[in-house]
Amino acid sequence: MSKIPVGILGATGMVGQMYISLLADHPWFEVRYVAASPRSAGKSYAQAAAGRWHLDNFSSSAPILHSVGEIMVEDANDISKALEARKTGRCDFVFSALEMEKEQIKMLEESYAAAGIPVVSNASAHRWTTDVPMLIAEVNPHHAELITIQRKKRGWDKGFIVVKPNCSIQSYTTPLWALMQKGYEIKRLLAVTLQAVSGAGYPGVSSWDMIDNIVPYIGGEEEKSEQEPLKIFGVINQEGILINAAEPQISAHCNRVPVSSGHTACVSLEFGAKKPSIEEVKKIWTEFRALPQEAHFPTAPECPIIVREEADRPQPRKDRDMDKSMAVIVGRIRPCPVFDLRFAGLSHNTIRGAAGGGVLSAELLKHKGYI
Ligand code: NAP
Repeated sequence: MSKIPVGILGATGMVGQMYISLLADHPWFEVRYVAASPRSAGKSYAQAAAGRWHLDNFSSSAPILHSVGEIMVEDANDISKALEARKTGRCDFVFSALEMEKEQIKMLEESYAAAGIPVVSNASAHRWTTDVPMLIAEVNPHHAELITIQRKKRGWDKGFIVVKPNCSIQSYTTPLWALMQKGYEIKRLLAVTLQAVSGAGYPGVSSWDMIDNIVPYIGGEEEKSEQEPLKIFGVINQEGILINAAEPQISAHCNRVPVSSGHTACVSLEFGAKKPSIEEVKKIWTEFRALPQEAHFPTAPECPIIVREEADRPQPRKDRDMDKSMAVIVGRIRPCPVFDLRFAGLSHNTIRGAAGGGVLSAELLKHKGYI
């Protein structure tokens, strides 16, 4: 099978680099087009990324830089370049990993879609646009149906926009969904997140703020953590409109902690009338599988939720890379004296929570015939 040529907008940034790394040996997709700010445009990718490659695996990334390194970086604001690339078979769709003003990203992503280039976005700009699906491939793959409605409404033929949710919610949304799937209503939830510094891009949070410290504030993160799961759990009604779920009611406390990668969430939750035992919860999570596993998507983890039984796990450094860094690792599953159940969840923020989640969404869209 010949690979689908893809572009990365924001290719030089933290998430863009992760896309390049994850797509290096991808069986379906091949990076043939890269774009960033006018500061990087006109340079080869190797030149633009020189001294800015932030991934841990620097030495093993060198060949990746070499293979993508010769591609000329274009200005992401200049859509004519992407259209030219599409014409010459170098860009069928783009991953958007741009960091700009929200309104600018919104308009730019819409321009790509209107020009016939599908956009799989990591940015938050379109997360609350009602006809834009916010996908976690294991949870709401059926929301991809909104693409047909989006195209019709906006008069787009080939283009569309899908987004992936914020990295902070990944550590609990799939575990909640697995329980809901088994008929356990979740009424209320308290989530305290411990979020890694890589979530803020590079250079991100000042080292003065991070060494020997915890910052109990991440702008906008609590609102995202409380509201995004409700869109993901929403249902599409007969008119094709996505109606957000009313529950669970979520209270989030988001903290930046001195961890390089891996967001942890300490969660307490309250069930409806039907309450599972601790053993039942562990069984549901261990056995949970969804479309990405059944259809064997290349980036899908074998086990989307991994249960750790040790008293002191999950831990970011020891557990974040389990199952291609794409699994949610849960542990400390125990009764809660205030609500019903307590657990700690962990997910890799720049992989499952960013580029890996984007690649998995693209695999879902290819599987469903949208790209
Ligand atoms: P980043 O490291 O700051 O990279 C930003 C990218 O955007 C760079 O390629 C940069 O190009 C480009 N850019 C900046 N200004 C531009 C402009 N005016 N025109 C065109 N391109 C421009 O940011 P990041 O951490 O990778 O985050 C990228 C996106 O993913 C953000 O929307 C972020 O909210 C989202 N996200 C991040 C994470 C995470 O864990 N880091 C998780 C989920 C979602 P130059 O290099 O040329 O400046």
